Amino acid sequence: MHDSLRQARRLLERYDGVGADGLLAGLLPEAPQASPQERLMLHELSCEAAFQANDYARALTHATQARTLASELEDQTHEALAEAWQGAALTQQSRYAEAMERLLHAIESLRTQGQEPLACRALNYLAIVHEELGDVPKALPVYERAVSMARLAGDTGMLGRALSNWGDAYVTLKDPQSAERVLREALAVVTPRNDHVHIAFCQLALGRLAFEKGDDAEALELLTQALGPAEKSGAARTLAEVLAMLGVLRTHRRETEDALVLLQRSLSMFETLGIQRELSRVHLWLSDAMEQARDLEGALQHHREHARIRGEVLEQTARTQLQAVNARHELEKARAQQEIERLRNVELAEANARLAQQTQSLLELARRDPLTGLYNRRSLGERLTDEFERARRYDSKLAVAMVDLDLFKDINDRHSHAIGDAVLQRVAELLSASIRKTDVAARYGGEEFVLVFPETGHDQAIRACEKLRRAIDEAPWAALAPKLQVTLSLGVASGTGYASWERLLSAADAKMYESKRTGRNRVRA
Ligand code: GH3
Ligand code: MG
Ligand code: MG
Repeated sequence: MHDSLRQARRLLERYDGVGADGLLAGLLPEAPQASPQERLMLHELSCEAAFQANDYARALTHATQARTLASELEDQTHEALAEAWQGAALTQQSRYAEAMERLLHAIESLRTQGQEPLACRALNYLAIVHEELGDVPKALPVYERAVSMARLAGDTGMLGRALSNWGDAYVTLKDPQSAERVLREALAVVTPRNDHVHIAFCQLALGRLAFEKGDDAEALELLTQALGPAEKSGAARTLAEVLAMLGVLRTHRRETEDALVLLQRSLSMFETLGIQRELSRVHLWLSDAMEQARDLEGALQHHREHARIRGEVLEQTARTQLQAVNARHELEKARAQQEIERLRNVELAEANARLAQQTQSLLELARRDPLTGLYNRRSLGERLTDEFERARRYDSKLAVAMVDLDLFKDINDRHSHAIGDAVLQRVAELLSASIRKTDVAARYGGEEFVLVFPETGHDQAIRACEKLRRAIDEAPWAALAPKLQVTLSLGVASGTGYASWERLLSAADAKMYESKRTGRNRVRA
């Protein structure tokens, strides 16, 4: 028994929680024959092993058993240490109110025993609770205390953790100097220990820092470095965070396809892990990347998921904040409740405003043709439906023109597709510039455009088209490519005597073909 416990301790030192767990699980059945001290140690080590293996429910069970045994042995120090483990396991399960109660009690108990250095773990998790509840400034001095206690206790494992978390909190608070200093020190502690989780964690935090400073190359290097230890550690959460951050960076560099792959992978890992807070963030980042990829439906869908989960997280945070406060300051409850409600409303309002804004810009984007920025065929249909209906109801005038570039295939062939695109963009600009505010210019297809002239008679529309034809004919195209020449053929139709706006448009199209047949570069009506 004794040897196995020693061996388990060595495995835990090497962060082999799974190995230690397997070893210790085999010991449990014999435990009743063991001495109470040995059983206490068995539960302590099993708790740590379960914790390292991310099995927090089991860690909590062992911590509770260790605490009971320590109490029976009247070993107050181990009782408080077990209580700190309870607090740590509860924190990892997002049970913040209970966690805070355990952690504060353990810290107080160790302090009165003159053993405050041993409270480093409890202090570290207390700071994490503050952070998770959204109060990062409050976490800072607690991390600092955890660091100095870990130093005093000579607990380098805890020292590395507390330093990593402390530095990461500085990144969140946008204090780059302090973040850099603390994270570099953290790396110096965790690297020789082969603490892969925290090596990856620090590199991720430094990568985040570089990204925020606008140093993309440095960020990419750090994040790529973080992948190795994150994968080696088997800590899915850290790996998922690294992948997400890499996805954000790739989106920023407009390497959209890579970004999407990384973010999708991160998303599915967080889904498996069930970490809502991170899921909500990754949905938002995916939405941005999809918008960049012009997958607007996907972008909107992910944005909706982001808003939904974020709402749930805020709800849950508000509830636990309230529980935490209730547990400690019954008197301040009413005031705190008001404050929490206020904060939640502010955050929800912000989230809603952003959603509304993004929805609006996505909808606007969906109406436009990406190359020219003109309205696309679908929104042209919507506009024409309205305009045709209005003109009929009020018996007002309405004219449309079909516009087609002449021998555009030759332009592509002779000059290149890129020049062809540039011609389309320039034509779109000239179209927009030549029409009135109330008129509409849309890209109907490849090199075909439609103009809608509300409140405009037949002759007036012909004159507008003639002016436009000349403007294109005389534009300085040779500046774009030597010997480049661009002309348009236009067809005009007007009135509401047609069965539908589609018929009106066909009439204009027929006239445009007449222009082509009769020599191009002209207006027919
Ligand atoms: P016509 O005077 O009879 O209209 O001759 P045309 O060559 O303009 O007509 P056609 O319909 O044969 O060819 C249209 C060309 O427009 C073919 C297609 O490759 C090109 N095109 C369509 N969309 C785009 C685009 O977005 N960019 C570029 N560069 N070319 C495009
Ligand atoms: Mg055509
Ligand atoms: Mg053409």
